[in-house]
Amino acid sequence: MLSYRHSFHAGNHADVVKHTVQSLIIEALKEKEKPFLYLDTHAGAGRYFLGSEHAEKTGEYLEGIARIWQRDDVPVELEAYMSAVNAYNKGGYLKYYPGSPLIARHLLREQDQLHMTELHPTDYPLLRHEFLKDDRSKVLRADGYQQLKSQLPPQYRRGFILIDPPYELKTDYQAVVQGIQEGYKRFATGVYALWYPVVLRQQIKRMVKELEETGIRRILQIELAVQPDSDRRGMTASGMIVINPPWKLEQQMSTVLPWLHRVLVPEGIGHTKVSWITPE
Ligand code: SAM
Repeated sequence: MLSYRHSFHAGNHADVVKHTVQSLIIEALKEKEKPFLYLDTHAGAGRYFLGSEHAEKTGEYLEGIARIWQRDDVPVELEAYMSAVNAYNKGGYLKYYPGSPLIARHLLREQDQLHMTELHPTDYPLLRHEFLKDDRSKVLRADGYQQLKSQLPPQYRRGFILIDPPYELKTDYQAVVQGIQEGYKRFATGVYALWYPVVLRQQIKRMVKELEETGIRRILQIELAVQPDSDRRGMTASGMIVINPPWKLEQQMSTVLPWLHRVLVPEGIGHTKVSWITPE
């Protein structure tokens, strides 16, 4: 079942948090000259036209990226992310939202590598087309979880792995933990970032417990809630679980999340969280 299309959701509050974390991790890895691998297991289409029927139908980006991209008080922690958004919107109005592969393409250096997988029959060719001329990149129509076995460890033993499944299947909540375990067995020093939605809080609690039980250390949880938890349908919050976060990430997200919360969520609703699931 591949009915999920990110084009309905591109640029929403969840993408803002996800891509802020993604860009801060990339910038931290760039502090050393040595090349690194950016592995995007569930890459999506890459570029999203915000005037499309899908984006117009939900209007989610209006309550996400559209609220921040032209403010003049954007915190320094958002600079890299905003530089990517601006690079794809030269005309001064918000036409495209760059997904994680395009943000990585903008921020990575000549010496770095990008490996991306996407299974959807419509989104895969779009993604492939974006990267035709980028010789740092490899785009495969393949299962993302499989890459955590076949692509790791990376050539230079430095890497950032973004795992961003649609959670269409309930089994995704277990598959991500198994996938991380497989990856970690092969490459324990990599930075792994797992995106999650809060639809039913219990599902996330179970997933976090399973992650704790793997024995992996240094797991940071970052979350922005735009509504209180609920058992009705719909996402009330989202977050990133980061294994081996760069040392500044906890501080950076503790500074920037309250700002994002203020700008994206009406006063008195939701919450932010930056805390360790398992410390050192
Ligand atoms: N990472 C993208 C971004 O931030 O711009 C968004 C990705 S979207 C949330 C999830 C994508 O995973 C969808 O495009 C879906 O088609 C794809 N997908 C679903 N199952 C997959 C699998 N097993 N392997 C690779 N891609 C998969």
